[in-house]
Formats: sequence, C-alpha cells, structure tokens
Amino acid sequence: MNCTILTVGTELLMGQIVNTNAAFLSKELNGLGINVLYHLTVGDNNDRLEKMFKNVLEISDLIITTGGLGPTQDDLTKETISKSLGRELVMHKPTYEKILSFFERINKEMSINNEKQAFVPEGSIILDNNNGTAPGFIIEENEKIIISLPGPPNEMKGIFLNSVMPYLLSKSELKIKSKVLKFVGVGESKLETLLEDLITGQSNPTLATYAKSGEVSLRISAKAQTDEEIEALINPICEEIEKRLREYIYSYDNESLEKVVADMLIGNNYSISLAESCTGGLLASKLTSIPGISNALDRSIVTYSNRAKHEELGVDKEILKKFGAVSEETAAAMAEGLRAITNSDICLSITGIAGPSGGTPEKPVGLVYIAIATNKNTIIKKLNLNGDRNKIRNYTAVQALNLIRK
Ligand code: ATP
Ligand code: MG
Repeated sequence: MNCTILTVGTELLMGQIVNTNAAFLSKELNGLGINVLYHLTVGDNNDRLEKMFKNVLEISDLIITTGGLGPTQDDLTKETISKSLGRELVMHKPTYEKILSFFERINKEMSINNEKQAFVPEGSIILDNNNGTAPGFIIEENEKIIISLPGPPNEMKGIFLNSVMPYLLSKSELKIKSKVLKFVGVGESKLETLLEDLITGQSNPTLATYAKSGEVSLRISAKAQTDEEIEALINPICEEIEKRLREYIYSYDNESLEKVVADMLIGNNYSISLAESCTGGLLASKLTSIPGISNALDRSIVTYSNRAKHEELGVDKEILKKFGAVSEETAAAMAEGLRAITNSDICLSITGIAGPSGGTPEKPVGLVYIAIATNKNTIIKKLNLNGDRNKIRNYTAVQALNLIRK
C-alpha cells in the first residue's frame, strides 16, 4: 500500500507552524510497512485543495489528511473531500450529542459553526476524538482509502493510535506487531546515532524513535504471517539494542516511567517521601498519577523558600547562608531532614534554578541538585539542564524518577 500525506493549513505554508503531523504520520506509517510517497501541503483554500485532492487520489492507495476539520470558516477539508467524491454531508448523531453536552456543560449556546462539526461524509467510518470535538473519518472508495484527521497534534495522534492504526492493521494481509522500548537519560538524537545502522539498514522490522519530555520511545515493528515469525524478527534487534543501551532502558513494554517506578516501590514495599523546590510538586504529581501509589508515597512537601526549607525540613540556616539554596549541601540537608521527620525508606529532595532569571556564572539557570537519603547513605546528583523553565522542571522530575528507579 502506498500513501500520500496531505496536510491542510495556510499557517503551514506561511511557516508559522512546523509540520509535525506529517513527520509523526510518516514515522508511524513506515513502522506499519506502508510506503509514504508524498507529503503535500495546501492552504485553507477550496479550489486548490480540491485540485490537489483529486490529483493525489489518482496516485495513492491511501490518503491521510490532517487539519481543517474544525468549526470555523477556513476549515473546509471535510466539505471539499465530500464534494470531490460526490458524497453528501450527513449528521452524525453521537457527535452532535457530544458537542451539545459540551456546550451545556460550559453553559453556552451551541452555534451553527459548532453544529457543522457533527456532519460527516455519507458512508464514512467515524473515528472518535477523545481530545476534542471534531471526529476523524475514513472513506473507502473504489479500492482507495481516505482518512481525515483534525489538525491539533494531540487530537491527530490520539485518533491515529486508537483507531487508525488498528484499522490499517486489519486491512493488511500480514500481521504487524510492534514492541516499544522506553529510554531515559539519553536524548533522541544520541539514541538515533547509537542505533543508526539499525534504523537506516532495516525495512522489516522498522525502527522509529519519539521523544516526549525527557523520555524516548523506540518502536520496533515487524510484519510476517505468524506471531512466531514476528518475534523471530524483533527479538534479535531487541537483544542488539539491549547490548548497546541497557543502562538507559526502563521498559520493554511501553510503560511510563512513573508506572515503572511506582511498581518498583510498591513491589519492594518501599516507602517514599519527597521535598521539592523548583519542581513545585511536579514529581509528586507524576507519581500520584499512578493508582495504588498510596502504598508507597507517604508525603510530598513543596519547600520553595529558604524559610520553608528550614521550618519544614530543619535545614540549618547556616547551610542555606553559606552554600545557598541551590547547592549539594542544601539538597542533602533537605533529604536528610525529610528522613528525620518521615523515616521513609527513600527520601528525595530537589533544589534548582528553573530560570529564566536567577542564574549566575557560578550557578547558571538549569543547575539542579537531587538528593536521595536512605538508611544506607545520601547520594546527590548534579544536573546542568538546558531549555526553558518548563522543560527544566519537567526534565528534573524525569531525572528524579530515573534516580529512584536505580
Ligand atoms: P480546530 O478544531 O482546532 O480548528 P482543525 O482540524 O480545523 O482543528 P486546523 O484549524 O487546520 O485544524 O489546525 C488547528 C491547529 O492545529 C493549528 O493552529 C496548529 O496549531 C495545529 N496544526 C494543524 N496542522 C498541523 C500540522 N500539520 N502539524 C502541526 N500542527 C498542526
Ligand atoms: Mg481549524
């Protein structure tokens, strides 16, 4: 099967946004063994979209469009595709009700424009959108498949992974299976460099990386007739990757880092307490997203000011004055102070400079200390992170989880 990705949006042509949708879809489709032959971008213009769509229909088995499914005037993908294929737009009742109840919830009247989102091409397969109101849809027409997805990347990805992927797999005569390895402590580009020969040299299985807030996923997809044949294709690659990068792998099963850490804590019957400064509770938030963490997490204290570090954790005022809040000594004193109060098996503290201001040549923005105090000792990890405030805070929380895991 060959595919064209048709992204719709004037913003793309103006260079106002980067076409991450096309990149995501290409990676995923290649992982499924579908050849992506063309990326095409059209602005929000009826005539040009219609012309391009008709051209693309000639040369592709599968067309995936993104963008232009929303409620506004310039959103015309659905209308144009329907017109090109000679199909009517018909109301999809469940979507109508979903939009209606959304407006009831926010106590606003539903406009005609919003109602427009509930109309879909006649005879299409509707793809539920868990992150927004406009659904995606699939049209099967004379051996061709047309799939339309909304523009916002989170909506597009959600629909693709939940609905499009299973649909495409069901169309293939071969079975396709993937294994997702997850890495922490290594960036996406370094990972790609370390695995370059495997990534570029393979067509079955294919390897694709994705990075998300400090963690990197590597999807290995293979196609064959039986599960055994698929395993025989995936396992040797997996072993080779493990040989090269074992220290960074935290899951062979597409689990989140917080889930792996929570399972480790609960499985070992460990108790844990946290004292966070620059992450302001982000680490606690990640851990408490996992059900059952109450079996391990005792408490999390956000000690932002020096006063709080002293009053809540008993950090010596002299230490704060002499070494500063962001220092090895303060991090250690926070973790040890927390242990004196909670007696948790693992007491972790975080102190750092998230920026954008507040850095000095000696202590630049992105300098972070994480300390872990246990009954054995206190270990301290120093990080020098790059990026904006959110990136630094998030990366710190990910690194802290990684330290707990180890
Ligand atoms: P909405 O209901 O939000 O209007 P839509 O399906 O109509 O959704 P667009 O209006 O085309 O989609 O795009 C909405 C937003 O999604 C854009 O402003 C942009 O931020 C993002 N977006 C759209 N297309 C892409 C793309 N190809 N790559 C990355 N982001 C995109
Ligand atoms: Mg729109």
